[in-house]
Amino acid sequence: MANPFSLEGKVALVTGANTGIGQGIAIALAAAGADIAAAGRSEPTETQKAVEALGRKFLSIKVDFGSVEPVQRVVDETVAAFGKVDILVNNAGIIRRADSIEFSEADWDAVMDTNLKVVFFLTQAFAKQALKQGGGKVINIASLLSFQGGIRVPSYTAAKSGLAGLTKILANEWATKGINVNAIAPGYFDTNNTEALRADQDRNAAILARIPAGRWGRPEDIGGAAVFLASSAADYVQGITLPVDGGWLAR
Ligand code: NAP
Repeated sequence: MANPFSLEGKVALVTGANTGIGQGIAIALAAAGADIAAAGRSEPTETQKAVEALGRKFLSIKVDFGSVEPVQRVVDETVAAFGKVDILVNNAGIIRRADSIEFSEADWDAVMDTNLKVVFFLTQAFAKQALKQGGGKVINIASLLSFQGGIRVPSYTAAKSGLAGLTKILANEWATKGINVNAIAPGYFDTNNTEALRADQDRNAAILARIPAGRWGRPEDIGGAAVFLASSAADYVQGITLPVDGGWLAR
């Protein structure tokens, strides 16, 4: 029987794959057999090395996801290089922290644009291509704040809660067309995004005390969930937001 988790012959477009969770996912998808197009604003040198060491092809697309302007170009460049695109991982994202009482419009717009608006329009551009190919897989990187409120991150919580909803509506519209749309909600992962939390001793201790696994997540902890959702093993999985959180939501 063929391995249902194999991504041999597949092409995955991963946003923000130069570091952190996106890098962990790109390497895991490559290890499962996929060629990788990495779209982001920083050169993904380390990721490229790791992917090529696994014997997979790698394309870097330089792009700023602060606006929707480049989304079609990202899909076009991937298809020009590889002939198709089968998997989209919407990982690039930002966070802005401030008390809600004084939160600025600029911090609201920046996070909503990158984490939600651009994700929708990149997914739309991807889906137009996937429909021509007979299907595809979309994996959105959500958050615990797709389920919970959080604190001092109003635009981030709004965007990630919105992303869980977007995951469901797109699954509803595209499930019969061969496109699976799902999300992964990482718990607390040791990346640039959470540097400020780890630097705050009290916050760090409180977070660790609540994680049943007793440690922060590492980028390599998330790859298996992405491989699953990108593979034919997940053909009948639609619209879920899968927590990979060391048990945080269970507590
Ligand atoms: P990270 O290390 O800060 O990575 C974020 C990635 O997004 C980087 O590649 C970054 O590029 C890219 N990016 C941000 N703004 C961009 C823009 N305008 N144009 C192009 N690329 C842009 O943080 P991470 O933790 O790995 O975050 C990845 C995803 O996981 C995000 O969606 C985040 O919200 C989500 N997440 C993280 C955690 C966690 O605990 N770490 C928990 C839940 C969800 P640069 O390197 O150039 O900045």
